[in-house]
Amino acid sequence: MSEENNDKKNGTILIIEDEQSIAELEKDYLELADFEVIMENDGRSGLRRALESESDLIILDLMLPGVDGFEICKRIREEKNTPIIMVSAKKDDIDKIRGLGLGADDYMTKPFSPGELVARVKAHLSRYERLLGSVPHENTIVEIRGIRIDKTARRVSVNGVEKPFTTKEFDLLAFLAEHPNHVYSKDELFREIWDMDSIGDIATVTVHIKKIREKIEVNTAKPQYIETIWGVGYRFKV
Ligand code: CA
Repeated sequence: MSEENNDKKNGTILIIEDEQSIAELEKDYLELADFEVIMENDGRSGLRRALESESDLIILDLMLPGVDGFEICKRIREEKNTPIIMVSAKKDDIDKIRGLGLGADDYMTKPFSPGELVARVKAHLSRYERLLGSVPHENTIVEIRGIRIDKTARRVSVNGVEKPFTTKEFDLLAFLAEHPNHVYSKDELFREIWDMDSIGDIATVTVHIKKIREKIEVNTAKPQYIETIWGVGYRFKV
């Protein structure tokens, strides 16, 4: 939702409401606040739209023909975390749905001021975005006997100490470590890590293996990680 992008709206709101005048009023105010609005006026089509569309927030009336708001809320929550604001004309109903813990994010009793609805919509959307933004994206990590290869950050540490790796050294180590115990010939490794038209030959592989060993092995004469299989190639031992 970049502010520079003018044709991008603040988000899409799905209104499931059978009273046309209320739905229209909500729609007008939300559109004024630069939201895109989808409307459904009965429970069945509302539920279908809620499950199929990529709406950012749902304003859900409780009493609806077809499927009621209780059921719709429950079914949406089985599949999605989209924020839901439930609205009802009856204060008692609101208390009841709160008690049921159906997973709605907010409740409003009709009649409410459209301005308040818009304010709550905005509040829930930004809360939801913060929530999504705070979910850490996990790095892809290969960890074998003290060697930790973070493929996302492209970093290698050996027993907790970070070691500098060149691009190709990193690619080669990561490839071998991801296929432990698999013996690769120098030819295969060269084809895997270097482009076909890159300068160099299979001797490049030998040079890189030597450099990697200097960084990860305690004794390069007796490698514990990348093993030489004489006459064949290399493998990462586990
Ligand atoms: Ca209704």
